[in-house]
Amino acid sequence: MSASPQTPLTGRCGCGAVRFEVRAPFESSRYCHCHRCQHRTGTAAGASARVARAAVEFTSGIDLIRAWEPAGGMPKAYCVECGGHLFSGSLEDDLISIRLGAIEGDPGIRPELHQWVSSAATWEELPEDGLPRYEEAGP
Ligand SMILES: [Zn+2]
Ligand SMILES: [Zn+2]
Repeated sequence: MSASPQTPLTGRCGCGAVRFEVRAPFESSRYCHCHRCQHRTGTAAGASARVARAAVEFTSGIDLIRAWEPAGGMPKAYCVECGGHLFSGSLEDDLISIRLGAIEGDPGIRPELHQWVSSAATWEELPEDGLPRYEEAGP
């Protein structure tokens, strides 16, 4: 199922204080194996999908959103109550990348590539999923 104005996807942080709806289909999706995503998530990779900011409505808790803004990187937004990551980018941006794990149900898109495989975790092999791999940032 793809999101639409009539049937928005819903998403939330871990504690549910921040909730949002996505009212347009995602444009693209990727796995990121960079060190920032590893430290941010505590896992081997992050998975996100890009969508127009205007298609995302925060239905509760927008005041609880904070962001880690690493030098030279996109802001990484999370819930200040539970630490659950929500999206990459700023609320003022035209496009943001929603963390797929924050979506409830099927996001209607699948990750299309792996990026930053040069820093992939040593403790988890990259899956043989046929997706293109990029040593650094993907296109
Ligand atoms: Zn939360
Ligand atoms: Zn990353």
